[in-house]
Amino acid sequence: MPLAPYIIENAPLAPHCFYRIGGPARWGLFPRSLEEMEEAYKWIKGKNIPFMVLGGGTNVLISDSGYDGAVLFTGGLDYIRQRGKERFDVGAGTLLAEMVSKVLLPNNYTGTGALTGIPGSVGGALFMNAGTVNGSICQMAESVRLLSETGLTEWEITEKDYSYRGQRYCPTGTVILEGRFHFTVDENDQRTVYEHYLDRRRNTQPQGRCCGSVFKNPEGDHAGRLIEECGLKGTRLGGAVISEKHANFIVNEADASFDDVYGLISLAKARVKERFGMELTEEVRIIKD
Ligand SMILES: Cc1cc2nc3c(=O)[nH]c(=O)nc-3n(C[C@H](O)[C@H](O)[C@H](O)COP(=O)(O)OP(=O)(O)OC[C@H]3O[C@@H](n4cnc5c(N)ncnc54)[C@H](O)[C@@H]3O)c2cc1C
Repeated sequence: MPLAPYIIENAPLAPHCFYRIGGPARWGLFPRSLEEMEEAYKWIKGKNIPFMVLGGGTNVLISDSGYDGAVLFTGGLDYIRQRGKERFDVGAGTLLAEMVSKVLLPNNYTGTGALTGIPGSVGGALFMNAGTVNGSICQMAESVRLLSETGLTEWEITEKDYSYRGQRYCPTGTVILEGRFHFTVDENDQRTVYEHYLDRRRNTQPQGRCCGSVFKNPEGDHAGRLIEECGLKGTRLGGAVISEKHANFIVNEADASFDDVYGLISLAKARVKERFGMELTEEVRIIKD
């Protein structure tokens, strides 16, 4: 039987990842609608192969040997629908930056400080509970629409469902299709807040190909500080470097390989463990055999 037009065999993954690193996926599925997403999911389940979801690819580091399974892309679920006062349904494939610029800023909604400057998709942000010291996306989400082996379901989000860069409503094998958000109008000018945090990022974070913070911050401390104290800023391996600007960022400066970045991740973990006795945990999702 011929493949559906949105299924590609040996789909390159590097162009879909912010790091620009990673070999091909055995199958890449790019459904263009909810119907195709359900169909694609069934196709994967029918083949009984490993699968993963990819949104904007801004928080993944994928092996140079690629992924021996199916990668399901969410980019086709790209929509913002207003649902009554201050409520919006946003497709998982919508860019988070678009939600900020098209919904939060024009309405002066609270949340701009938490979400400004975070790249990637709304689905990826809901999976990671992305955010900053100013808050995280789950605080603005009322519910998520999910696709799993049990079909389409809704999950009402409560405070117990999420934590620092994590949540419990999307276990392995589940796809976040949509988030329903309830925003509130802020008393401070959100355009000013937006400009302030964009500026701050420009001044404190490197610009190149990276995944943002490589490690989660340990309770009461900063992974960047610990790595910097170990004297690792500027350390290079192949084409990758621990940023001089922010030690929790590892940048692909010159065609770095997976091993280059992974080697620096391992080095930073080992040195921090040696010096401070602390185990750093990766925030970046590492995809390797
Ligand atoms: C320059 C830069 C700055 C950053 N700053 C921040 C920051 O300030 N705060 C912050 O929290 N993060 C930050 N990040 C990290 C990253 O942008 C966020 O984690 C982002 O929310 C990931 O979204 P994504 O769509 O790119 O996810 P991806 O990288 O595509 O995927 C990340 C994980 O989510 C899963 N996933 C993605 N979409 C879905 C879905 N629809 N259903 C189920 N699972 C899914 C993937 O399988 C993977 O495990 C930064 C990254 C960069 C490059």
